[in-house]
Amino acid sequence: MRKLLLRILAATSGLILGLVIVLLVRAWQVGQQAEPPVQLKPLTITLEVEALTQRLAGALRLPTISYQDPTRIDSSAFRALHAYLAANFPRVHARLRREVVGGLSLLYTWVGQDTTLPAVLFMGHQDVVPVATPEAWTHPPFGGIVADGYVWGRGALDDKVSVLGVLEAVEQLLADGFRPVRTIYLAFGHDEEVGGRHGARQIAELLAARGVRLITVVDEGGFVVDGIIPGVTQPVALIGVAEKGYLSLELIATAPGGHSSTPPHQTAIGTLSQAIVTLEAHPFPARLDGPTRGLLERLAPYAPIGSRVVLANLWLFGPLMKYLLAQSPAGNASLRTTTAPTIFEAGVKENVLPTRARAVVNFRIYPGETVASVEQRVRLLLQDLPVQVRRLEGTSTNPSPISDFEGEAFRRMVAAIQQAWAEDPPIVAPYLVPGATDARYFTGLSSNVYRFIGARITSDLLATLHGVDERIPVEEYVKAVRTYYALLRTLSGP
Ligand SMILES: [Zn+2]
Repeated sequence: MRKLLLRILAATSGLILGLVIVLLVRAWQVGQQAEPPVQLKPLTITLEVEALTQRLAGALRLPTISYQDPTRIDSSAFRALHAYLAANFPRVHARLRREVVGGLSLLYTWVGQDTTLPAVLFMGHQDVVPVATPEAWTHPPFGGIVADGYVWGRGALDDKVSVLGVLEAVEQLLADGFRPVRTIYLAFGHDEEVGGRHGARQIAELLAARGVRLITVVDEGGFVVDGIIPGVTQPVALIGVAEKGYLSLELIATAPGGHSSTPPHQTAIGTLSQAIVTLEAHPFPARLDGPTRGLLERLAPYAPIGSRVVLANLWLFGPLMKYLLAQSPAGNASLRTTTAPTIFEAGVKENVLPTRARAVVNFRIYPGETVASVEQRVRLLLQDLPVQVRRLEGTSTNPSPISDFEGEAFRRMVAAIQQAWAEDPPIVAPYLVPGATDARYFTGLSSNVYRFIGARITSDLLATLHGVDERIPVEEYVKAVRTYYALLRTLSGP
């Protein structure tokens, strides 16, 4: 008996030792895959920092706010921006063709030397979200103030940095005598923040109608960030290769109502609460695939040995990794379709039972699922509750396709970014964008749609996007312009 036990013990410890060796060898191998330092010559361009900072600040003074209701839009602010761009980027406006699409969106064409090749498209949006509490801002949100090393104002990060940054880079390329081989399009929508239906979508339809093919599309959606994985000291350039879908469902519970002194067993508020609790208790399944897995795999070689053993062996540690990621809201959103109750309303008087309770739950859909499959799962979860489920029309979209992050187009992105950032090269990695961008309208025209702005942004600054004190460090705006310069040059090559 003891002999048998000893033999089993020996066998299992042999297995465990074998497993440990496999894990360590994988971790070691992955460590060898860290990319060699940049071989490319660093980008040498001279930018007039003061002038380009002031040009961005000037654009932030124009309140190009978009609203769901198009009649509320102040089109004169957009026209003022158009005139401002024409005055400040003379070479662009002399050499590129400019068209106004959908009323207020802009499409520029820089014809390349070889028009038989698929073109490239750089995007940004002119519109910004409204400011709820201007008094809470350090500087007026539409003041366009440069102070303490920042350019302050609504739109500094989202997304006049792209519009102005791309134009700065093109203006500089023209000054340097650069001639693109591929045609370059610039598309600046005017209603991204309210869905992009009149701007980016119309531009995409126009280009499709003209038979334009696009090798690469670059829009907003990812920045250069720090601290994704503890112990990875290099910054990480997050290239959004896909974006999640969007669905809002309205839940309605009804009840007879009546006097609150004699309540029934089931009330409208109780039923609706139960529905919300049920949805929150049944999160959508977590998945470690696509861009999120790609991101972890890109980071693995740079991680300290402890985390590298995990990252290099996701075949074994996948469930652990999912658990760890799910602990933070951002990590959780990178793994699954998220469930967010955003509206909950019922009742008008303290002693009256409401006859109706209403909630809205917003879902951000993970690639692989669809608006229909999410709705179906919700109906299934709530089937035993007397709750009506209705889709809020006009806003739902399926997740975008996932752009290629292994091929030549992505490699060019990596090369250009590393060249622009040669002093402090980031790890370039794919990423799932949790929000929506105008780029999704172009996924039918290109299989390489990338969402990225070449500025290093801390999590504190990210929180100002759509919030209070939106601002960009001057230094990072300059890097964004440098990155656009390198991207425009590299991606428009033969
Ligand atoms: Zn935006």
